Amino acid sequence: MSILVLGSGQLARMMALSAYPLGISVQAVDVADNKIVDPVTKQVINNTLEKLIEEVDAITVEFEHIPEDLLQLVHSSGKLKPSIEAILAGADRVREKKLLEKLNVANCPFQIVTEVEQLDAAVATLGDKLIIKASRDGYDGYGQWRLHDKADLPELKEQLSKLDLNKVPLVVEKMLKFDRELSLVAVRNASGDIAYYPLAENLHHQGQLHVSVAPAPHVSLELTEQAQTIFNKLAESLDYVGVLAVEFFQLGEQLLVNEIAPRVHNSGHWTMHGADTCQFENHIRAVEGLPLGSTKTMSTTAMINIIGCKDFAREMLSISGCHMHWYGKTPRAKRKMGHFNLCAEDYIGLGHSMLALSKYVPEEHFPMLKDEAQRLIELQAK
Ligand code: ATP
Ligand code: MG
Repeated sequence: MSILVLGSGQLARMMALSAYPLGISVQAVDVADNKIVDPVTKQVINNTLEKLIEEVDAITVEFEHIPEDLLQLVHSSGKLKPSIEAILAGADRVREKKLLEKLNVANCPFQIVTEVEQLDAAVATLGDKLIIKASRDGYDGYGQWRLHDKADLPELKEQLSKLDLNKVPLVVEKMLKFDRELSLVAVRNASGDIAYYPLAENLHHQGQLHVSVAPAPHVSLELTEQAQTIFNKLAESLDYVGVLAVEFFQLGEQLLVNEIAPRVHNSGHWTMHGADTCQFENHIRAVEGLPLGSTKTMSTTAMINIIGCKDFAREMLSISGCHMHWYGKTPRAKRKMGHFNLCAEDYIGLGHSMLALSKYVPEEHFPMLKDEAQRLIELQAK
């Protein structure tokens, strides 16, 4: 059995690592040059894309920003999972918003802008605290601008006037004051079976995910049901096969969808050690047509991203329940270099493990670690 992944970064690598024990080999295509590589060793494989498309059982993606011609080519093979519609909805915020509206799924108030002059109307309707998002090719907070004050609008318009907004429109959103960010990672197979992981609570810093805690604390049954109902609507309408992540903003007891990711997701990395079957294995199982694995929670887990820093010693592995995954990438500012998974019996234990971890890692790259540890300790003490 074999799978081709479009994209050859850490998500392809983690899919490959979880596929091998099942006897499934994974090859990846670097979408920048169409070279075929082993996603773990990064060695170039002497094969053509056309031949590989014929040979493999299934083709999937590790990210949604795939060049259109490549996406069409793999779509026409009939092996692409999830479907092209799902990938395009994740790649294009205008399509994504249209899908959410069509399905009547609550999301963040927005306007689509194709000329800078329309920003005045957007401010009049949505207020002067806005997040402006390029509809394509954004990730980790890139391709986003923030307006905090109406007085800054002329300068922002000047900046945005340099973009071709007809080609890549903007989705302008009201900047929400939400209580917290949650995500639901779940998997669906071709027979329509669905397995959900518990909601994770996600902490962002400068538009980038730093910490996920799963299961998220204080989640009512109603909130879980709300998230799962939204997942079902999206997955069923797209006849979705594979892992799909839905990012939410929680306001009181209401969930608004921020965005969807038609793939394995950073806020699901905790499942590698905190769930019976991890998201990567479940994605592989789904696209290969195998039975889904149990998503049972095995521990209280925190996933902590290693962002923008060089390699460091591994002494933190002495902390009980500490696992590390280093992606082996060249360091760059704001680049995701790896992650830790910390597993504990409860939130208080998790908080203490996070405090222990904070002693081994450079604080400037882990700005949320100590405060979050303290919050988890106090949460349980209450
Ligand atoms: P990622 O790749 O990490 O998912 P992204 O670049 O796709 O990020 P978003 O998820 O849309 O972008 O936004 C990144 C973060 O910015 C959100 O997780 C949230 O913290 C903040 N954010 C986005 N939209 C809004 C909004 N309308 N109101 C308030 N905060 C927002
Ligand atoms: Mg996001």
